[in-house]
Amino acid sequence: MNGQCPTCAQDLQGCAFFFDVDGTLAEIQPRPELVFIPAAILAALGRLQTVGVPVAVISGRRLADLDQLFEPLRLPAAGVHGAERRGADGRLRQLNLDREALRRVGDELFQACARYPGLHLENKGLAFALHFRLAPELEAVARGLAEDFIRRYPALLTLQPGKCVFELKPRGASKGEVIREFMREPPFGGRVPVFIGDDLTDEAGFQAVNALGGHSFKVGPGETAARQRLDSVSAVEKWLDALVRPLKPEVYP
Ligand SMILES: [Mg+2]
Repeated sequence: MNGQCPTCAQDLQGCAFFFDVDGTLAEIQPRPELVFIPAAILAALGRLQTVGVPVAVISGRRLADLDQLFEPLRLPAAGVHGAERRGADGRLRQLNLDREALRRVGDELFQACARYPGLHLENKGLAFALHFRLAPELEAVARGLAEDFIRRYPALLTLQPGKCVFELKPRGASKGEVIREFMREPPFGGRVPVFIGDDLTDEAGFQAVNALGGHSFKVGPGETAARQRLDSVSAVEKWLDALVRPLKPEVYP
């Protein structure tokens, strides 16, 4: 196979790619269920997978959501900011969490959010996202609710702010940690990790790949530990296109 990374001139076969999803491979939409992966990005990821270059997605979404988004591909993936992970071997690993306590938190949050119709509570089972994209005036309310629950359940949850969202994620869930776990396993191990993300939750991933001698890319503006930058989702799409374009045509009809 021919092909080099357009940014670092590294042989593609020596790399392992990790991608955040929302805001990185897909434009952010008013509601998370409206998000889709552009066909050109799906095709590029499929090409990488076909030639044996490891690709995984690392997202705040649940694994089941990710599988739907990336159909027909089935990628190694980490969901809920790393609380659940499916390796290249198909095996599922989850953080050991108190499910019953999380269920009670979900019920309580549902009650608390019911007073604010503009606030969208996304219950992921292992995490809870308070979305205020459609009601920006509720940012302070969402922050207050999230901080209150973190104070009351400090052993269970931590606060993960994001774009128009305050998320309560399980303590111990980290995009950096799951990237390290992937990198200890085949086919990722021994390669140079590349991670692209756009939001605060991705900073742990940038730090992890920096420490592993890899390449970190932040999508869009803002302070970051990432060492390189891409402007937008469409810039990621172009970058991916440049990545897969040199691959031998006989491999990709
Ligand atoms: Mg994102």
